[in-house]
Amino acid sequence: KPQLLKGKRGLIMGVANNRSIAWGIAKACSDAGAELALTYQGDAMKKRVEPLAEQLGAFVVGHCDVTEGETIDAAFATLADEWGSIDFVVHCIAYSDKDELTGRYIDTTAENFTQSMFISAYSFTAIAQRAEKLMTNGGSMLTLTYYGAEKVMPHYNVMGVAKSALETSVKYLAEDLGKDKIRVNAISAGPIKTLAASGIGDFRYILKWNEYNSPLRRVVTTDEVGDSAVYLLSDFSRGVTGEVHHVDAGYHAVGMKAVDAPDI
Ligand code: NAD
Repeated sequence: KPQLLKGKRGLIMGVANNRSIAWGIAKACSDAGAELALTYQGDAMKKRVEPLAEQLGAFVVGHCDVTEGETIDAAFATLADEWGSIDFVVHCIAYSDKDELTGRYIDTTAENFTQSMFISAYSFTAIAQRAEKLMTNGGSMLTLTYYGAEKVMPHYNVMGVAKSALETSVKYLAEDLGKDKIRVNAISAGPIKTLAASGIGDFRYILKWNEYNSPLRRVVTTDEVGDSAVYLLSDFSRGVTGEVHHVDAGYHAVGMKAVDAPDI
């Protein structure tokens, strides 16, 4: 593979297991020559993330739960000690109570709305605050979003509202950090069967619908998201910031059910 990230060091947050989008991105970045660091959330993830990190020779920074600000500070302090500076950070973190990823959006509770917004949208800004200080030679920040931010998707509910906030924060962060040669972008990935996605009601239906109706007539893989991430993290995208890049087999471009789509 072309060594687009040779000489670059980056932090990837949000690997839960080998089906995580963060893992697809980590593999692609490693193949492109990057040196990587990973954080994990809690002991359950630690057991899965440590052997994965070993496969890539990645540095395991430690536990980081974005609801505990001190663990974000600790992770970035560890990274500062280990590397001094970083070139990129990838944020693959989202959460909503799964009871609210089904039924009607209108029934969202104040508590879950606040928590989903905090973990899925604000945390990217919280991480940008810390990462900015380590990006002394400029850098690239990347987060993951979904089309449910732009259009209503069944069951996506409060997560769609949180992703809208996340996408808008990408634009504001791009403006704030552009002067320091730090770029901020998002990938809007098509549906992929991951741990987080399994919490979304009728996810199989969403996958099938995308397979039948996207221009490429299939769904995307975490490896494909990873390859697109390499571009956004590399100097090949040096003129790109504040962008939401769709890696969804083209689904966002279509306005109606495909004429050849079978019934589901
Ligand atoms: P995943 O379950 O593999 O990853 C979600 C990650 O979020 C986990 O590693 C989990 O530990 C982390 N996380 C949740 N709460 C956290 C907290 N409080 N502190 C720290 N970490 C926390 O699922 P995934 O699908 O790979 O999700 C990664 C990102 O991709 C999410 O932002 C998700 O919304 C987005 N995305 C997913 C899809 C899809 O179809 N799977 C499509 C578009 C966007």
